[in-house]
Amino acid sequence: MKRTLFMVSVIAAVVLGAVLSCGAADDMAAFVKSNIQWLGHDTFRIAGDRTVYIDPFKIKKADKADIILITHDHFDHCSGADVKKLLGPKTVVVTPGGGCKGFRADERIVKPGDRLEVGGIAIEVVPSYNVKKDFHPKDKGYAGYIITVKGKRIYHAGDTDHIPEMKTFKNIDIALLPVSGTYVMTADEARAAALEIKPRIAIPMHYGDIVGTRGDAERFAEGLKGKVEVIILEKQ
Ligand SMILES: [Zn+2]
Repeated sequence: MKRTLFMVSVIAAVVLGAVLSCGAADDMAAFVKSNIQWLGHDTFRIAGDRTVYIDPFKIKKADKADIILITHDHFDHCSGADVKKLLGPKTVVVTPGGGCKGFRADERIVKPGDRLEVGGIAIEVVPSYNVKKDFHPKDKGYAGYIITVKGKRIYHAGDTDHIPEMKTFKNIDIALLPVSGTYVMTADEARAAALEIKPRIAIPMHYGDIVGTRGDAERFAEGLKGKVEVIILEKQ
C-alpha cells in the first residue's frame, strides 16, 4: 500500500512538474505576444512598466519611448531621425561610446560591462562584435543589452557574431538574435549561439530589410526544433 501511495505521488509530481513547466513556457510565449513587437530589421518595441525601443529605424507609428537603447552607430541602428520621432520630455537614450549622433536627449553613454537602471528597468551592457569580419570590431565597444522587463530577462544581441561572452549570459528568458549572415551571425551560427545561451524563447532578427530573408529565420527555427522554442514575429 505504502509503495503504491509512493508511486502515485511520484507520478503526480512528474505530471504536475510537466504541467507547470509547460504552463511557464506558455506564459513566456504570452508575454512575447503581448509585450514584444518587432518593427523590422533589429528594431523592437518592448512594453512593460516602461516603453523601451531598441535600435529604432524606419519608425512609422507615432509613439513616445521612455527608454531608447542603441546598439551601435551604424545608420540602420543609430538613426537620429527615428530617435527624434520617439523622444518625449523624459526619454532616456542609452548609447555606447557616444558615437550615435543626430538628436538631443538625456543620454547615458555606456560600454560593454556597464550596468545601469533607468526608470526601474535594469540594463546590462554586453559585448557585441564580429569575430571573422571587420564590420563591428570588438575595440569599438558596440553593445548588446540584457534588460529586465516585468521580471523577464531579454537579451538583444546587436550586430554580433557568436562570441565567447555569450556562454556567460545567465537566465536569459528571451533572446533576440541576428540570423542574416554577412554583417552578423548566419542562421546556423545563431543556432549554435542559442544552444549556448539557452533562452526560454529565441526570436530571430536582422533579416527582411538590409540583408537576409525570412528563410534565414525559418532555417534558424528549424535547427532549434525540440531544443529551444523559437518565435518568428510578424513585422508590425
Ligand atoms: Zn552594424
